[in-house]
This record gives sequence, structure tokens and C-alpha cells, in this order.
Amino acid sequence: MTSIRTTCAYCGVGCGITATPTGPRTATIRGDDAHPANHGRLCSKGTHLGETIGLTGRLLHPMIGSRRASWDKALDLVARRFRETIDRYGPDSVAFYVSGQLLTEDYYVANKLMKGFIGSANIDTNSRLCMSSAVAGHNRAFGEDIVPATYEDLEQADLIVLVGSNAAWCHPIVYQRIQAARAARGTKLVVIDPRRTETCEGADLHLPVKPGTDVALMNGLLAWCDRQGLTASDHLDVPEGFWAHIRTGHDLWSTARTCDVAPALLEQFFTLFAQTPRTVTLFSQGINQSIRGTDQVNAILNLHLATGRIGKQGAAPFSITGQPNAMGGREVGGLASTLAAHMDFAPDNVARVGRFWAAPHMATRPGLKAVDLFRSIDEGRVKALWIMATNPAVSLPDAGRVRDALASIPFLVVSDIIADTDSATHAHVRLPAAGWGEKDGTVTNSDRTISRQRPFMALPGEARPDWWIVKEVARRMGWRNAFAYDRPADIWREHARLTAYQNDGRRLLDLRAHATIGNDAYDAMAPFRWGGETLFADGRYPTPDGKARLVVTRQMDMQPPLRDWPMTLNTGRYRDQWHTMTRTGLAPKLARHREEPMVDIHPQDAAALGIVDKGLARVRTAQGDSLFRVCVSDSQRPGEIFTPIHWTDQISSGGRTGLLPRPLVDPHSGQPGFKSTPASIEPV
Ligand code: SF4
Repeated sequence: MTSIRTTCAYCGVGCGITATPTGPRTATIRGDDAHPANHGRLCSKGTHLGETIGLTGRLLHPMIGSRRASWDKALDLVARRFRETIDRYGPDSVAFYVSGQLLTEDYYVANKLMKGFIGSANIDTNSRLCMSSAVAGHNRAFGEDIVPATYEDLEQADLIVLVGSNAAWCHPIVYQRIQAARAARGTKLVVIDPRRTETCEGADLHLPVKPGTDVALMNGLLAWCDRQGLTASDHLDVPEGFWAHIRTGHDLWSTARTCDVAPALLEQFFTLFAQTPRTVTLFSQGINQSIRGTDQVNAILNLHLATGRIGKQGAAPFSITGQPNAMGGREVGGLASTLAAHMDFAPDNVARVGRFWAAPHMATRPGLKAVDLFRSIDEGRVKALWIMATNPAVSLPDAGRVRDALASIPFLVVSDIIADTDSATHAHVRLPAAGWGEKDGTVTNSDRTISRQRPFMALPGEARPDWWIVKEVARRMGWRNAFAYDRPADIWREHARLTAYQNDGRRLLDLRAHATIGNDAYDAMAPFRWGGETLFADGRYPTPDGKARLVVTRQMDMQPPLRDWPMTLNTGRYRDQWHTMTRTGLAPKLARHREEPMVDIHPQDAAALGIVDKGLARVRTAQGDSLFRVCVSDSQRPGEIFTPIHWTDQISSGGRTGLLPRPLVDPHSGQPGFKSTPASIEPV
């Protein structure tokens, strides 16, 4: 059978895949040798994708309550209830909660409907939980949400610093590329992470910093470089007091004390960084998922800007995204805090996008970010919600309260490939969406490479693509002409035209070369990177004066442990599982790596609390509690425990990490702080 080139369903590395169907719902999966992200490599999750494309658990027909319904009836009901809610309570009484699993075309249509036609910006995405602090940090420093680095930079760097990233598990092909570069040219690798993860095993240096001290660490490093005459900021926009702040209290000893690492270890890292102009700092959820995430991002960007480690091959800050299309969602404006095509809600942007869409009701201000959105449901202010391709009843912090909100909302629509998720259980209408291997469109990976996801299987049952479902609702709400799309290529061309529309050259996201692309050329589109290879090489940034901006960042005070909550809970992924396991849970081989959810705890803490390896323990926080199998390991710092995010009510009665974190967010990005929740643990 004919092989189809497509892109992996999972992480933001965005590996190319060659899928060869071997039956109606089976296929052989191989890495695509020609794809620039992976050059033929695949990790365990990608390799086993072929085992996940059966129909187990699929939602195959529209459902109203527990009854099967026709598409017409279900879509009419969704359009009518949203219309009635808007008419009665205003546009901000409705919301969409979407996903980095959507394709760019899906995201574009949903964003356009909410922000240009309904007239609210209440569309947020699970990417809020993943990288919105990086978005806010990029906007503050560069004037636009730009990731300047590429994967090739990893191969040209002499030093790679991984901060808050367990890349060996969470971005395995990037990690393999780093290790290949180390073998080929001796690239140094430093890992900064409170936990000694598998990523540290291949590193030259591991700094087990205290959680939440990254601002102190980066400011200390900048002060070290400054003392050695390695900084320059004439070409930058420098806020008053910036250097005085850096030059006060950021000596090696106080930085080591704040970060709780040995001064000698810190000096080794600082010396290596100072001696290595070609450095890439790659950061992920350990930086972003914090109530000071945006400042942590800007502390990294400050360091690269002021030491000249940007705009050159092998030298850049590199935010790596978790989901397959978090970047594509950012590009169309699929966050409540952005408008469209990397534009914010400045009045001239609202007017420009309104003209382009011929929009009757433009949103004029940001909408509700994820945590606030679900709180607003709880408070009765949001009365109709449409969830697309995500499961907030598991993944949001304080998930028990989110579940209560979903149970109480007057009208809930869920479009998904899975019939019975923890969120869909509460839906008044469920709509069957197309899944990986059936979908057709584009995704953008972490290094700005846009690739096609192509179908190689027929749509099962009555499943339909997300863009089709949204446009059918939009047309039933009265906006027939504005949503007259027949195929994903129609949407792609419109998105490309919008990026170029009255773009004076300041916004770097500009896809005008694709504005008139033909259907055949869209089908055949090879992966390409927008924005070029070495961004900011000319020293100009998309800010009003063309200068990048340094941002004053201050280390927050670290509170001593609370009497009732003496431990600090950190959360994250397992190597072979993804999100809530609706897909990876179908591949038995992937369960072998970690068969059940475990709480990792240091031997000292385990001994003091009478907790034994492989026994059971209950983790409690002020939000909730859940049961875990115990893994006693000195890879944890004393006083800190770690649990995985994947298990749901549908899978087991324990391991419910989402019930535990506080719903506290970063003030700039709205990203929740999943990495340091006060907790307790007891043997069971
Ligand atoms: Fe898929 Fe990410 Fe693995 Fe690549 S690294 S195969 S994109 S899960």
C-alpha cells in the first residue's frame, strides 16, 4: 500500500512519520528520513503509534445526553444554545476550551468564531498549562512570541543548558540529537533540575537547585558574566535600575544559598557558561509551570540578550513546547490573551483583524485564561462551554473543583475522539472528532517548522474534522459566508493571508508565500521553517524601536515548609505515556516502562515517615488527596516528592495528580504553578 508522510501525534519535537496502511485500521509506522526534526528517528511513543489507531473507546456518533443523534440535530442544538446564551447574558457568558492537539486549521476557525463573530476572547487552550509563560516572556523581551532557536542550533552549540526539562523522557528525539552532538563534537551538557532525572545521566554537570529559584540562578549568572566584562546592553532597551539590581546581592555565595546548591558546583557552571559564547539554553515545564514562570523565562532571555548569546548559530534561548501543535495554536491566536497572527488586543490590531474577517462583533480585550475560565463557570458567569480535544477534569490544577464546575454548567459540549473521558461524562452534547491518521492539516513544532498531518485512514463512524464541526456551528449561528470552507487548504490560505494583511514588516510571522497556494501544493507541502534560520542576526527585534527589552526580574521569597504541609509536590510526565493516556494506554508495550502511578520520595523522608519502597502512600494537599505506589529514590531532594500527571478516574481510583496542585497562576501568563505545591504524605 502507499505510504503517507505525516507528523507524530505527540510532543512538540514534531517528528516526521511515514505511515504505511496494512489494513483498514492498522499501519506500519517509521520515522521519516527526510523530516528535518528527526531524520528518521522515533522515540518509544512514536514507534508504537500503530498500536493506538484502532477504535477502542472511540466516540463514533453525535450524542445528545446518552442518546445517539444526527449531526443536524446535534449541531442545531449547539448553535441554538450558544445563541440563546449570548442573547440573554452577553458574549462573555460562553467559552471554548481547546487544545494543542488541534491542527492549525481547527484552531484558526475556532478562534475566528469566538473573537470575530461571537465577540468574546473566551477561547483558551490547554497550552495555557504548558508554555504560556514562554509566550508572555517572548512578548516582553522580543515584542512578539518568537522562539529564536532551531534544532540545528543544538548541533552547532558548544554548551547546552537544559533548565527544568527532562528531555530524555519528554522530548526524546531532541535529547538524542543533543547526545549525538556531544558524541560528534564534544558539546558540553548542563542540566538544572531539582530531580536527578534520566536526562542527568548523560550530562557533564547536574545542578539540583531548590524548586522555584531559577530567577536567582540566572540573575547570579548574569552578575558573574557582568563582573567579567562579558555583558553589553547599549543595543538593548534597558529599564532603569536593571544593572543596579543585577549587581546587588547576586554574588556566587548568596546565589548558591538561595538555590541550595554547592558553591563549587555553581562556580563550575558559571565558568563554563562564561567561557562558551555558543550556548543554547533549552527550557521547558520546570520554568513555565510556576507562579513566577514569566519572570523565570525573562531571566533566561535577559542572560542571552545581555551576553550576546542570540542571533548567532548555536547561541539562543530555546523554549521547547509539550504538545504537537501548541506553536500553531499560538500562531493563529488560540490563547485568550492573544488576538490572531501574533497580534495582541491593541486597538489598531483589533481594527485590522476586524477588517480582514469582516467581523460583526470583534473582541476588544483578552478573555478568561484557563484557571479563571473554570472558576467563572463555578461562579455562574460562564454558562455555555465547548471543550475540544482535551480533558480539563483531569489536567487542570484543583481538578476536583473543575469537575464540579463541569457538572454544574447549564450547557456543555465536548468534541473528542474518545467517548467517555472524565470531562465528557458531564457533556450535554458529545461530537465525534477525527483522530490522528484521519485528520488533515498542519502543525508547527518547537523550532517553527510547519509540517503536514495527513490522513491515511477513512473517518470512522460519523466522525468529522474539528474545523468542519466548528464551521457548521458558525454557519448555523448565522455566519454562513464567513465560514464557507470546503477543505483545510481554504483555511490555511486565509490564515496565511491574515499573517501578511497590513503587516508592515514588524511582525515576523508572515506566511504570505502561502496566501495563494493551490490545493495540490498544500497537499504536497514539505516541512518548512517560517522566519528563517538565525533570527535576530541583524540585532533588530519586532518592538517599536527595534530593540530587545531587558526585564527586571526578582527572585520571590521562598517560604519555609508549612507545619501541615511539610513536603513540596512536583508533577510531570512519564517517558512512555502522554496526557491522560487515551492513546498511549492502548499500546501494551508502553505500559511496561511504568505500570502504575508512583510517588517518588527521598530515602530519608521515607524512613522518617515509615514509608516503604513499593508500598502505598497517600499524598495530600489543601485541594485533595490521592493514593500512589511508592518509589523510594535518592533522585529526589529531601522534602520533595514527585507524581505523574497521566492517570484518570477512567483508569484507576488512585494516581489522580490533578486533584492536588493549587489553582495559583503566574500574574503575567496565567500559567498554573504545578511544580511546587505544599503537600503531606503518609503510608497506607
Ligand atoms: Fe513523537 Fe515527540 Fe517522540 Fe518525536 S520525540 S516521536 S514527536 S513523541
